[in-house]
Amino acid sequence: MNASAGTPATHDGFDVARVRAEFPLLARTVHDGKPLVYLDNANTAQKPRCVIEAVDRFYRERNANVARAVHALSEEATDLYEGARTALARFINAPSAQELVLTSGTTMATNLVAYSYLLPRLEPGDSVLTTRMEHHANIVPWQLVCERRGARLKAAALEANGELRVDEFIALLTPEVKLACVAHVSNVLGTVNPVREIAAACRKRGIPLLVDGSQAVPHMPVDVRALGCDFYAFTGHKMCGPTGTGGLWARRELLADMPPFFGGGEMIREVRIEGSTFADPPARFEAGTPNIAGFVGLAAAVAFLESLDMQRIAAREQVLLDYATARLQEVPGLRILGSAAHKAAVISFLVEGAHAHDLATLLDLEGVAVRSGHHCAHPLMQFYGVPATCRASFSFYNTEAEADVLVAALRKARKLLV
Ligand code: PMP
Repeated sequence: MNASAGTPATHDGFDVARVRAEFPLLARTVHDGKPLVYLDNANTAQKPRCVIEAVDRFYRERNANVARAVHALSEEATDLYEGARTALARFINAPSAQELVLTSGTTMATNLVAYSYLLPRLEPGDSVLTTRMEHHANIVPWQLVCERRGARLKAAALEANGELRVDEFIALLTPEVKLACVAHVSNVLGTVNPVREIAAACRKRGIPLLVDGSQAVPHMPVDVRALGCDFYAFTGHKMCGPTGTGGLWARRELLADMPPFFGGGEMIREVRIEGSTFADPPARFEAGTPNIAGFVGLAAAVAFLESLDMQRIAAREQVLLDYATARLQEVPGLRILGSAAHKAAVISFLVEGAHAHDLATLLDLEGVAVRSGHHCAHPLMQFYGVPATCRASFSFYNTEAEADVLVAALRKARKLLV
């Protein structure tokens, strides 16, 4: 029996049963027939049939390299790849598809900014500003380039409830800061940061702002123009697309001024042994054969999310968050980390007397997939003084019934561990 059975098919005008039917993997069982309850969506999302079929169809019918050959297949593949760029740009309301660099994900996007934008501008004594809640992908690239230049990384603190101390972040925007970076949504706490306010403060001081949108783009409407940031990074596999896809949106004038980070085919204008000249953005930053099939799948994922409507996805996930939070609070000894007023459907928790990994292992035996560990956010774990948490992260295809299974499995695990 699927975990969605027993719950009404329609929630808040959102037909969850029909949506779930689009995801073949959600029907599978684990550990001798336990229905899978997949609550690890912040790690990666499951893929709807249309994405799987788009990738399959590409390899069956269209496979060719892009932007290189004049034959029909190559033109079709190029059109599909550039079509994905257009669809993604529209999805985040970028002013132009030419401002969107297609990358292997957020990690490649932040590294591109680190080496291509930041490194040439950093001088000894400069700094980069981030926060204590960031994923390592929004910390380590800045550290690597800061070390090379004698610059340093600063981090704004958090409130105990997991909200960013925005006043402190703004106070740290001092003249030696060459780049400010913030997550749109925390992958551990679910905190939604006030990016517009932060972007306005950065703009006033002439400091470019990079937003890590990995956990926002899959869960809410994102409009980079309205946000007012300068760089926006995101990853495709968390938005129902294939792994190895993602993007970096950057203002045209910033991209135009950035030297290449990777060299190779397709990013050049002319190559001579004495030296080379480079293509305009975004091609300048897309050396080598890209993940063509992956982006074809990601374009299908965008169409799927658009058909569900991001506003309705966000509303549905808020209902799930409220329900799951209330149910989890009934479990004795359970503490939720992160109770920001503006929060996405990510719930990190600890149970007194039980280690996060033991809990996750016992939950897994009941069919419930959650993540345990530091979630690639060591500084955040240090802030809370814990080595690890359990994290249940929801998607629009999850159900209240699945939250109930999580709670029942936690009660059972608690009896064994505490
Ligand atoms: N930032 C955040 C907030 C994330 O959640 C993740 C993925 N866990 C990343 C960055 C890195 O994304 P990717 O591994 O797809 O590059």
